[in-house]
Amino acid sequence: MIQTKAALIHGTNTPFQIEKVDLASPKENEVLIKVHAVGVCHSDWHLVTGDTHHSLPCVPGHEGCGEIMELGPETQGLKVGQKVVLNWAPNCGECFYCNRKRPSLCEAYTKHIWDGFLMDGTSRLSTVGDTVYHYCALSCLSEYAVVPASSCVVIPNDVPSEIGALVGCAVTTGVGAAINTVQVSIDDSVVVFGAGGVGLSTIMGAAYAGANNIIAVDIHSDKADVATQCGATDFIIYHDKISDEIKSKTDGRGADYVFEAIGNPSIQELAIEAVRPGGTLVLSGISPMGTKTNFSGELLTRHEKTVKGSYYGSSETGKDFLKLIQLYQLGKLPIQNMISRFYTLDEVNLAYEDLIGGKPGRRVIQL
Ligand SMILES: [Zn+2]
Ligand SMILES: [Zn+2]
Repeated sequence: MIQTKAALIHGTNTPFQIEKVDLASPKENEVLIKVHAVGVCHSDWHLVTGDTHHSLPCVPGHEGCGEIMELGPETQGLKVGQKVVLNWAPNCGECFYCNRKRPSLCEAYTKHIWDGFLMDGTSRLSTVGDTVYHYCALSCLSEYAVVPASSCVVIPNDVPSEIGALVGCAVTTGVGAAINTVQVSIDDSVVVFGAGGVGLSTIMGAAYAGANNIIAVDIHSDKADVATQCGATDFIIYHDKISDEIKSKTDGRGADYVFEAIGNPSIQELAIEAVRPGGTLVLSGISPMGTKTNFSGELLTRHEKTVKGSYYGSSETGKDFLKLIQLYQLGKLPIQNMISRFYTLDEVNLAYEDLIGGKPGRRVIQL
């Protein structure tokens, strides 16, 4: 058992509290990580607002990179000192979905993880003997974390930890939406609603795939520069008649691919209008639990439009994290251009204030 300084959520709509919590040693198939960097992702904020229902108190943080400090029993293939990107959807490797190369849909541990536990259905976190819950089996907004061995993807030690962290969620979700969920290709037209971490990564993925017309849409005009640096060829401030403006920029038809990277049902309903007949709307932003989106079945049929969900970029995380890191090293994914500011763990509330306030680029907490 060690003590670790961590951010805690005690109740909805209350600030993060920085506290020391007890962290038990790793058990079978688990490892202890010294966390180096954590991306400030909207999904953690959904715990604060209650849009994602979760057991509390919990330690959030699911976009992380760190170093292996200690191995529990049965952790084959991992070594102390390795740098790892953390996968927030650990998988069993042998179920129906894992065998079909869709590990993010693995059924084996979903219940335990969404109950706030590690894969054996128990927590390693506590304060004065009371259970503190994990989030996504990672809880990496903390100096140290005990995580499933299957969440650890080893990357070269010379890759900056902030780059590794972003690959752990935003980059894999966004780039994967463009190249795995659908296959954006040369000369395609692409629209991305939401120029946050996932949206910027989708823009990077579309640019990497060769799309020639990449339109970013957001409500904050100061996100235009970072969108351009990630590969957007155009930037439009969101408005009610935006589908008309998008059609005017896509030969009057609408785009081949439209991505909704926010998770807002009313924007999803508007985004489908910007898709050309025969084109595809990809939903990669996570909507609040219990919400519904209303599409016209008649128009989907008449115009042969497709709507696809995209979870974790439809990625094979074990392989794709490394592939994305290699593309970064080759200069084909300018992940560094997304990062706008670093914070300490003590500044976590400021970091989320800046995120919710719509400041451009991805924020990273360094530990
Ligand atoms: Zn995330
Ligand atoms: Zn599985």
